Amino acid sequence: MTRLFAGTPFDIPPSCEDCGKLVSECRCTPAEKAARAALRQRAAERLPPQEQTACVSVQKRKGNRVATVIVGLTAKANDLPALLKQLQAACGTGGTVKAKEDLLELQGDHAAQVRATLAANGYRVIER
Ligand SMILES: [Zn+2]
Repeated sequence: MTRLFAGTPFDIPPSCEDCGKLVSECRCTPAEKAARAALRQRAAERLPPQEQTACVSVQKRKGNRVATVIVGLTAKANDLPALLKQLQAACGTGGTVKAKEDLLELQGDHAAQVRATLAANGYRVIER
């Protein structure tokens, strides 16, 4: 079979979208391809911070403790573990991701620092 643009500058041989090699030279395994396809799918579902609104609140916990809670940012649209890491570093505290609830929680009252960090990342932030 001859390709439509064979012999012209538009004749670009098909290459693997994962490794970039010609399909005939590609050594990607089906598992590797599936893993990369899943990553691409997740990346496609991400939303830019500018299109998201985070709601930051400070909530009481057992034993006179408080927690800074961030809602409004979904696990689908964001890399919540990476965001939590950044917030933990900015606030100097520990925290958790509750992906099922699309919720981030930091130990202690760090609302001001959390708002500043989220805003610096481009997120819209509201108080509650
Ligand atoms: Zn490949």
